[in-house]
Amino acid sequence: MTLPHPALSAADPELAALVGAEEQLQAETLRLIPSENYVSAAVLEASGTVLQNKYSEGYAGRRYYEGQQVIDQVEGLAVARAKALFGVEHANVQPYSGSPANLAVYLAFAEPGDTVMGMALPMGGHLTHGWGVSATGKWFRGVQYGVRQDTGLIDFDEVRELALKERPKIIFCGGTALPRTIDFPAFAEIARECGAVLVADVAHIAGLIAGGAHPSPVPHADVISTTTHKTLRGPRGAMLMSREEHAKALDKAVFPGLQGGPHNQTTAAIAVALHEASQPSFRTYAQSVVANARALAEALLDRGFDLVSGGTDNHLILMDLTPKEVPGKVAAKALDRAGIVVNYNTVPYDPRKPFDPSGIRIGTPSLTSRGLGTEHMAAVADWIDRGVTAAGKEDEEALATIRAEVAELMSAHPAPGLAG
Ligand SMILES: *Cc1c(COP(=O)(O)O)cnc(C)c1O
Repeated sequence: MTLPHPALSAADPELAALVGAEEQLQAETLRLIPSENYVSAAVLEASGTVLQNKYSEGYAGRRYYEGQQVIDQVEGLAVARAKALFGVEHANVQPYSGSPANLAVYLAFAEPGDTVMGMALPMGGHLTHGWGVSATGKWFRGVQYGVRQDTGLIDFDEVRELALKERPKIIFCGGTALPRTIDFPAFAEIARECGAVLVADVAHIAGLIAGGAHPSPVPHADVISTTTHKTLRGPRGAMLMSREEHAKALDKAVFPGLQGGPHNQTTAAIAVALHEASQPSFRTYAQSVVANARALAEALLDRGFDLVSGGTDNHLILMDLTPKEVPGKVAAKALDRAGIVVNYNTVPYDPRKPFDPSGIRIGTPSLTSRGLGTEHMAAVADWIDRGVTAAGKEDEEALATIRAEVAELMSAHPAPGLAG
């Protein structure tokens, strides 16, 4: 089940053993964290190459170091593939990850102290959308919208009212715990009304967009920010995309504004992931991710679970465990012992604390990458149900039984990149 790492095993057996242990964990558990996935063996290989050895500050044809004959082509491939896949005029593939990509957007379009607007973190937004503990909330004046308590959906009247009153320079849409389709045209109209730059942060759903399973923010958003490692199934990294009019501002913000040399091994792996995402099989994958999430949501509702917004349109389900009288963290830790990996999460209007919230967040990108289909979702819901019940009763035996059942199913569905 673990992969050979001959050089690593010889040079550093202690670290090699840890990598092997992680491979085993990823192989035998049911990974339901919606921001995670399994990259292909090709993406893994590309991210572990000698491209690691090269410094290439700047952009193709305008580098500050010599010897870029190959690197320029690697980055050029990644950029061209991003532009083709998402239908955008400009793509920057250098941001180290989603958070620095978003920081570059601030640098491009706002001055410290300016007002910016995003969804509140406890409502499902991201730290980098102006939340207080983040640099984006300390250096900018963040105003935050949420979802309605009765529907769990964004209230566009509230968003418009807040935007027109506060006049933000930048409006972020997108988040980390939104189970429903994002209405990009509605956000675009509000951004136009108040003269803000609209940023669609599609980190979670980029793969669904690429695969045609979620509407595209093109042409509605001025800037599209995304990680490459969630549903897009690439290496840990990020991209910023836009129309040509914003290309210079974004490029300058990423380098030299915020970063030094790009991580070329990651750029190469992004190029591979974008190639994979342009294949017909990836469209099937994206549709299956959504179909699996819908089926799982149905199966959970059948078992009496309370889902924020009543279900899902995408890859993600936010479960409010309040009616089950099991706190999110207790459930998450018990499920982990049962071989089911989730994260505890706040739910909108959560009366509990962020570090000990009422909910858990789950998703289907990883299990779909392993070939599980809608026919397996009743079993997954059943394990979650039994796991949450066992968590409430501290029934370790029940958790061990689930763990064995999970491992058996997962062994029949080898993980991409781990199949050896
Ligand atoms: C994951 C995520 C990010 C941040 O990405 P990192 O790579 O973890 O820095 C930003 N925005 C959204 C909406 C995300 O889901």
